[in-house]
Amino acid sequence: MMQESYVISSPMNPAITMKVTPGHFATSNSHISHYLDVSTLRTSALVAREVARSFAGKFLTSTEVNTIICMENTEVIGAYLAEELLKDGLMVFNRGAEIRVMTPIQSVGGQLIFLPSARKYIEGRNVILLLSSASSAKTASQALECLTYYGGRLVGILALFSAEPSVLGHEIFSIFTDADIDGYYSARAEQCELCKAGHGLDAIVTNRGYTEL
Ligand SMILES: [Zn+2]
Repeated sequence: MMQESYVISSPMNPAITMKVTPGHFATSNSHISHYLDVSTLRTSALVAREVARSFAGKFLTSTEVNTIICMENTEVIGAYLAEELLKDGLMVFNRGAEIRVMTPIQSVGGQLIFLPSARKYIEGRNVILLLSSASSAKTASQALECLTYYGGRLVGILALFSAEPSVLGHEIFSIFTDADIDGYYSARAEQCELCKAGHGLDAIVTNRGYTEL
């Protein structure tokens, strides 16, 4: 049964908060015990900037970044992240340089595509992959496949939430992890323990929130 929502703060930056709703939710490929509302992180200018600052700390002075690929409506964060990485004195590699913030096109079959005019910003370039949720590896692996296809060099995977420390051998740096949410549970739909225990689904997660059943 869906329970009352509560708010948690990120251990790495208390200015970043997220609303959490316990229940039994279905996503496109899994069942989860908590709905995580990352909309404020993606759309509030103030919070998105804090998220970008936390991400930027991961790259300062150590890695050149040419391109940021934004998945799952993370473009606002991507723009602030580029600004942080381009700041004078912060990242020596990028001083006077340019960073492209891009989003792939999705085909009907779910394949990620970049138009020919955009490919030169990926081939041979250092690319950051920015995701909303890396809790199921599906979007992350699709994006990695796309990056490899176009010849980009992955320098980091950033996520707002991840229940996994890595995907296909690449470390994920996330603002929130499953350890921040008491009792967080996620499983493939057919293996879901909540379903097996007879708990009906409360809601279906959509890319704009959730729809109660
Ligand atoms: Zn279930």
